[in-house]
Amino acid sequence: MDGMKRNPEAVAEAIRKAQTIAVISHVNPDGDTLGCATAMRLGLLALGKDVTLFCDGKIPDIMSFLPGADLFRRPEENEGPFDLMLSVDVSDVKRLGACEALRKASRMTAQIDHHPTNPLFMEINSVDGEAPAACLMIREQLKALGVPLTKEIAECLYAGISTDTGNFAFSATNSECFQVMSELMETGLPLAQLNRILFRVKPREQMKLLGRALESMRFAGNGNMIAVMKLTREDFEDCDALSEHADTVVNYGLDTVGTEMAVLAREGADGKIKFSLRAKEPQRIDDVAQKFGGGGHPQASGITMDGSLDETLELVLAEMVKKI
Ligand code: 5GP
Ligand code: MN
Repeated sequence: MDGMKRNPEAVAEAIRKAQTIAVISHVNPDGDTLGCATAMRLGLLALGKDVTLFCDGKIPDIMSFLPGADLFRRPEENEGPFDLMLSVDVSDVKRLGACEALRKASRMTAQIDHHPTNPLFMEINSVDGEAPAACLMIREQLKALGVPLTKEIAECLYAGISTDTGNFAFSATNSECFQVMSELMETGLPLAQLNRILFRVKPREQMKLLGRALESMRFAGNGNMIAVMKLTREDFEDCDALSEHADTVVNYGLDTVGTEMAVLAREGADGKIKFSLRAKEPQRIDDVAQKFGGGGHPQASGITMDGSLDETLELVLAEMVKKI
């Protein structure tokens, strides 16, 4: 899109002119938007600004280690007006949620974001659709403002850079990630401790449920290239687990050597059967999902169906087997 580029100087100028600044994270906040906001808060405090953090959504418990994570206000707790409203990692106006109302209460609006679809909805837009994480742009922004990195700021930025790159595994991961990581490490970033919190620690219920799912794993189709798992209501109850505790289980199927597709069928508390389908390129399963009224992406789709766990699973599996 025309005009899409990083613009740390324009944002820095708006910040220098402002005293009261509202920093906004997106709805369903993730590590990147929260890392951006908490890092900006620390940087702006160092410049003597009055900063208020806003988010229309619950801050996930896993992010409570971020300095300032407990300071986010709901949009209705707005005590504006603000000299500047700055959204971070917000791809469009809808992702502001009710924080959209803060616009009217702000004299100037700006944003820092990295979504290629961003329609540049603020007055000042620093948007780079190729940046692997918005937190990388915050590092550059703080540099433009002359704010030195501290260990606390590094913790915030690490949260965003690591989660948006899938722990430095997604194809968007680039040398800038490691250049900035090198700077963060210089501050004494407790990498191992934070990596454990962000990527490894899981609730007991989730671990127990994973055990049940792995025990159920079988292989089907031509060359046994489809990994099949299921979780019954009884499994969830025995493990004291919720449906969300099964959200990443299907990946273990796809990570098994020799597997090209994976399916997890889980029996929901509402009696509905939820399917998670995955495929390795060039295979795709979105067409299978669509056949049963589901949808998603070519290599990651889902279906929600009525019926019995075993019967619906056989129906979906039969369609997957046809493809391989
Ligand atoms: P997951 O297996 O992680 O729940 O979902 C994978 C993808 O499939 C997501 O992009 C999600 O939006 C989509 N998806 C999951 N469940 C359903 C569903 O019941 N219906 C449709 N249309 N899409 C779904
Ligand atoms: Mn992001």
